[in-house]
Amino acid sequence: MSTFWIGTGWKMNKTVAETRRYVADLKTRLPSELGSDYALFVIPPFTALAAAREAIGAAPVLLGAQNMHWAEAGAYTGEISAPMLKEFEVDLVELGHSERREYFGETDATINLKVKAALRHGFRPLLCVGDSAEERAAGASAEAVVRQVRLAFAGLTKADFSRCLVAYEPIWAIGESGVPASPDEAKGVHVALHAALKELGAPKVPVLYGGSVNLENAEALASEVAIDGLFVGRAAWSAEGFASLIAKVMAARKRAGLARAEVMHAIG
Ligand code: PEP
Repeated sequence: MSTFWIGTGWKMNKTVAETRRYVADLKTRLPSELGSDYALFVIPPFTALAAAREAIGAAPVLLGAQNMHWAEAGAYTGEISAPMLKEFEVDLVELGHSERREYFGETDATINLKVKAALRHGFRPLLCVGDSAEERAAGASAEAVVRQVRLAFAGLTKADFSRCLVAYEPIWAIGESGVPASPDEAKGVHVALHAALKELGAPKVPVLYGGSVNLENAEALASEVAIDGLFVGRAAWSAEGFASLIAKVMAARKRAGLARAEVMHAIG
């Protein structure tokens, strides 16, 4: 079975003390056998990275950061650079979340610079792409996110792609007012993303789904062959919630017996 990714981004939530408690709790709840079939990650705020790294220890949980500047250093007040993240042994960097695009002026061009900087420093970029409600209503969801992927990944080499991840996060599906995508609708966009990545020479880049994932829909989403992982917000902000989701997904995928070969077959 190919690796299935399950991770959580915490947005602007959790103090250092809360992070320590969360990770300690999560460690007691992790399944004993993850093997290479599953990759887990948590993405705390910058201020809790050191505590998270220390608390994770040797547990099979990757650590991510929520953003990163593309420059090595300089006059960018309030920003965090790759060398700074290196000190916390960060594994992946989330880039291009729709909240960053909407509230902090991120553009496809700056995201491309960040993706390249992350790769230069040995991180895995987790590129978030998402369609708006208007794009969805116009039937342009796939077109919108494929464009974002092409622009964010412009200029990457084959070797670069082996370390990239994509998260499809419909803007209309995330957060308090979000309505989760049905597995069928998510599947349609994932298939388009896989096809575009294949065209770019990156057929193996995993595409995760994010947006109101919860205990009710995780099983169906994780059983879709074109979905390579789940990126979860609110439902995984308690260790218990995250662990329950992991257990649900593992049980569902075991039942379905899915393999990457089937994904490749499904998308031709
Ligand atoms: C997100 O905003 O990236 C997200 C996945 O949030 P939620 O699961 O809470 O909708």
